[in-house]
Amino acid sequence: TDVVRSDIEIAQSAQLLPIREVAEKLGLTEQDIIPYGRDKAKIDLAARERHPRTATGKLVLVTAMSPTPAGEGKSTVTIGLAQALNRIGKRAVAALREPSLGPNFGLKGGAAGGGYSQVVPMEDINLHFTGDFHAITTAHNLLAAVIDNHLYQGNALQLDPNRMVWKRVLDMNDRALRQIVIGLGGKNGVTRESGFDITVASEIMAILCLVEDLTELKEALGRILIGYTYDKNPVYVKDLHVEGAMAAVLKHAIHPNLVQTLEGTPALIHGGPFANIAHGCNSLTATKMALQFGEYVVTEAGFGADLGAEKFFDIKCRKGNLQPEAVVLVATVRALKYHGGVSRKDLNIENLDAIARGFANLLHHVRIVERAGLPFVVALNHFTMDTQEELDFVRTLCKEHGFPVALTDVFAEGGAGGIELAEKVVYAVEHSTQTFHPIYDLQGSIRDKIEAICKDVYEADGVVFTDEARRQMIDCEKHGWGGLPICMAKTQYSFSDNPKAIGDAKGFVITVREIRPSLGAGFLVCLTGDIMTMPGLPKEPTALKIDINDEGNITGLF
Ligand code: ADP
Repeated sequence: TDVVRSDIEIAQSAQLLPIREVAEKLGLTEQDIIPYGRDKAKIDLAARERHPRTATGKLVLVTAMSPTPAGEGKSTVTIGLAQALNRIGKRAVAALREPSLGPNFGLKGGAAGGGYSQVVPMEDINLHFTGDFHAITTAHNLLAAVIDNHLYQGNALQLDPNRMVWKRVLDMNDRALRQIVIGLGGKNGVTRESGFDITVASEIMAILCLVEDLTELKEALGRILIGYTYDKNPVYVKDLHVEGAMAAVLKHAIHPNLVQTLEGTPALIHGGPFANIAHGCNSLTATKMALQFGEYVVTEAGFGADLGAEKFFDIKCRKGNLQPEAVVLVATVRALKYHGGVSRKDLNIENLDAIARGFANLLHHVRIVERAGLPFVVALNHFTMDTQEELDFVRTLCKEHGFPVALTDVFAEGGAGGIELAEKVVYAVEHSTQTFHPIYDLQGSIRDKIEAICKDVYEADGVVFTDEARRQMIDCEKHGWGGLPICMAKTQYSFSDNPKAIGDAKGFVITVREIRPSLGAGFLVCLTGDIMTMPGLPKEPTALKIDINDEGNITGLF
């Protein structure tokens, strides 16, 4: 590689297959797809019944060690591995989350992979794609409008305006909307405090990712808790009879989206719930469809294994009865150095001692994966600033621990840079004698489940509950919600709830501040630390660099 090209330049110069041909690779016909232009389509949910298949694909989860703030390349490795599996003769499909539009204008890169392992058309995927997020935003705000109208029109349900939990959403990083007062001006309804979250934090996003058809969707929407009455009784969407209209708005959004990677590998991109207050995985329907029509399915879960993989196992796999067969743990030299105590500005300087210290972080993630009974391969995602000595040293450390490891260069080389990884993943899948199981049982009390996650997964010494969290736990059990799985909202930078406790933090307790029931999605969100559900823009947002020329070509979007 002589000239370094940006992600968007690589993506724009790609020759895309007509989407019909991508569908054909999955054995799908014209009847099965709903095209959105030339290179995007939705796959009709009914295609699953139209092509019943007994054999199912092998499910591989890509997760990572605790990341640095820059991200360690899970999406890139997911896409690159799917391409590499195809190169070694396995019909592979990638199953990914849809990127949120708001963050495109802030700091972080797009969420469509990078380098020669991207999904295309990348601008569309990053900007409006097939409109799923707009539909979710609309369904969410429809409910908000109906709630405020109910308060205004006599409040037959006796909703307490001070105990409403349903807010509004927008797919934009806009901190000014976090806390607002609505209904000002005398004749404009009931005045009350409220606020906006970003669309990916909407419970409807989580619901869309966990239901498998319209019937289930409507039931789940009906179960959403919107607030409490003056007598403190819970009120649900079904009490307002608006779940039908909300489901109607989501009519198209429920079908998974089909696109391709730069090498023409089919990719299903559908849904994108937050990885803190929600479970952080693409839709169950997309994963199941990929398993039905592909031989290997490579999917990802947000953040490190302590958060993303744990929720993938305990929420998504449990709900959908999925049996993952292997895990890829993405590690980078820079994250190993970061967790070995190197400051962010010095991450480009060779430092083998720091790598040796930071390796403890990776070891902890390995223990989490092994707890779920799964074999794994370490994917060492190669960055150009890594030195040969550093890369060799990581390999040596892995070998000493008996870990399968593959140097992965899918960013610079596409699928060709992931052959070693693909071969080791196939070996792990074919030779595994372990069987997958969720990490905790649903039977225990809410406290038991939270303690199991904190002690077994984070290796905390204990858990402390604030008075508020303790009260909420009692309430949840009283209302009959105690049997749900737990969705932990914790910093991704540490196993503890303190983002500064890097490496393999020890001797900490987790403080649970709040329990928030997501009854439609079917889990109890357990909040630790400060969790942001409406991001802001940085001082120099990337929006200032994005442009479009007279021919309609976008620049500056990474
Ligand atoms: P994650 O899914 O873990 O957040 P991404 O795959 O989105 O990570 O990668 C984060 C950013 O780093 C993206 O901008 C991506 O293009 C870039 N990136 C990933 N791997 C590499 C690599 N090996 N070399 C250079 N940049 C990379």
